[in-house]
Amino acid sequence: MTKNITLLPGDGIGPEVTQEAVKVLKAVAKKFGHGFNFDTHKIGGASIDSFNEPLTDKTIAACRSSDAVLLGAVGGPKWDNIEPTIRPEQGLLKIRSSLGLFANIRPTKLFNCLKNACPLRADIACKGVDFVVVRELTGGIYFGKKQTLKGNDGKVTANDTLSYTESEIERIARVAFNLAKTRGNKLCSIDKANVLDSSKLWRSVLNRVATDYPSVALSHMYVDNAAMQLIKNPSQFCTIVTENMFGDILSDEASALVGSLGLMPSSSIGTTSFGLYEPISGSAPDIAGKNIANPIGAILSAAMMLEHSFGLKTEAKAVEAAVESALAKGHRTADITISSDNIKPISTSDMGDEIAGSI
Ligand code: NAD
Repeated sequence: MTKNITLLPGDGIGPEVTQEAVKVLKAVAKKFGHGFNFDTHKIGGASIDSFNEPLTDKTIAACRSSDAVLLGAVGGPKWDNIEPTIRPEQGLLKIRSSLGLFANIRPTKLFNCLKNACPLRADIACKGVDFVVVRELTGGIYFGKKQTLKGNDGKVTANDTLSYTESEIERIARVAFNLAKTRGNKLCSIDKANVLDSSKLWRSVLNRVATDYPSVALSHMYVDNAAMQLIKNPSQFCTIVTENMFGDILSDEASALVGSLGLMPSSSIGTTSFGLYEPISGSAPDIAGKNIANPIGAILSAAMMLEHSFGLKTEAKAVEAAVESALAKGHRTADITISSDNIKPISTSDMGDEIAGSI
């Protein structure tokens, strides 16, 4: 099989971890007889530096004409004080909306051999953490009208609008119900329907769509309770569906349960097999350029690409198994090294070599 992959390494650790994911994809291509062609473009701060905008039309066109996109991360202190409309993060929001990628799938799984990297009490961690967050990605407060106004008295007011249409909620609900059917037939929808109108609509649409999925048990939870339940009893969750900002925050919280943000992959998908795959972390400026970032989130994102965009399930499983094998052999990057383990952390590129080597 031949596939064209657009690479958007971005900023900070983005290029470092993307390089390791490419290394693993090349190992997969060699082992299973596929041809993956890579075409690299700029996004975020790197694009601002070259083109004075975080995402160019040429880059969007390159993504559109490829089979899938692998992204690193964007942003960093260098671009923190520039004009808000061209900040690096705008590139990320624009690529997702331009490509119609409205569903962000974030698997959260605690590897057996990393149980001691989980900050929860052993009796909670031993019950396991294995759920998927389905986050709405192109609506809600990040995309609503926003303004900062200075009144006649000189005082400043700022506002952001959280808005959802029924159809935006229905399409993400269907993605979540379909996924829940493959994961224990349990779906928990998270909202703030006791306070927000957008959440009341969210809940009513979820209840309506549920009638088309009688095998799936739908429950609802308020977001503040969900933030607590993720810590108190994470094993209760199988599939979670929630709106954009709640999903952003809860999935970062969830990443702490598995040991590190650097382990977490994601896919952003729409209605076709096309997708954009990226680790959920940011550009980690504090560790960028040191070859110490954890590349596993990027590598597992590549595995999600193999499965969803290319239909290569065996190859995706081979990547996941290679990650588990590297961890089981005791290889750790600094973020998942526990001092009591007495293990010397390995570099980003060495972890990539280990994983690629066991494909
Ligand atoms: P961050 O996710 O970059 O980092 C948070 C912490 O996690 C840091 O201590 C970092 O070192 C650590 N970390 C993250 N990824 C890691 C990895 N692979 N291996 C080891 N440790 C890792 O969040 P931040 O510091 O709040 O944001 C930094 C920049 O990234 C900001 O400019 C922010 O806007 C941007 N950002 C981008 C994305 C994205 O590209 N998808 C997401 C979030 C934040």
